[in-house]
Amino acid sequence: MKRCNICDGKSFIPGPQNRLAGKAPPACAKCGSLERHRIGRRIILAISKRDEFANYAALQFSDDRLVEQAWFKRYEISIFNGPNSLDVQNINCASEMYDFVICCHVIEHVHDHRKAIVELARVLTKQGLLFLAYPNPCHRAATVDWGFPDWRRFGHYREIGRDFESEYRSIVPNTFVAAVTALDCVTESWDRVYIISKNASWMERLFHSSLQVEMVAGL
Ligand SMILES: [Zn+2]
Repeated sequence: MKRCNICDGKSFIPGPQNRLAGKAPPACAKCGSLERHRIGRRIILAISKRDEFANYAALQFSDDRLVEQAWFKRYEISIFNGPNSLDVQNINCASEMYDFVICCHVIEHVHDHRKAIVELARVLTKQGLLFLAYPNPCHRAATVDWGFPDWRRFGHYREIGRDFESEYRSIVPNTFVAAVTALDCVTESWDRVYIISKNASWMERLFHSSLQVEMVAGL
């Protein structure tokens, strides 16, 4: 029986707009997680130690259970047009403030996704870790950027493809960027996300895990 790796739920329903993943309903009926949340959780648990998080300050830009607030010493969430709404392209805080930044399916919604990545890296501590995900780089070779929020496409400004990986080296120089490809335990669909850090130890942990990892920048 399939189980949600976030809440241990066993019942799944269609996603937003009745979306199915192939024939499988992707949303956990108990916690609402989708493929990207369960994949993210799997990756984070594979490379981190929970007792480390107890000393971490975390900043999350997506309102979901990719991580749990209770894991961290300090936890802030930015909700777009809601409480603590930060502009990811111009984050209103000093540099190196957060040990863990989570930004899942946000940068496709902003005008300048490159500036957003610069900002996300800026607020990371030297030991810190950035979890960055956007829709489907696994399945799309080339970025298509139409430059405005298209409400027929969830308000996205663009679809970011694999070709964007070649830009990380110049967008965030002196920073390690790893692409991690992993399987969702419920729908058995693949996703590709990015683990970004100024500290090589996170890359070592990735390569020592059972995850499928490719370095994109930083070597
Ligand atoms: Zn769940």
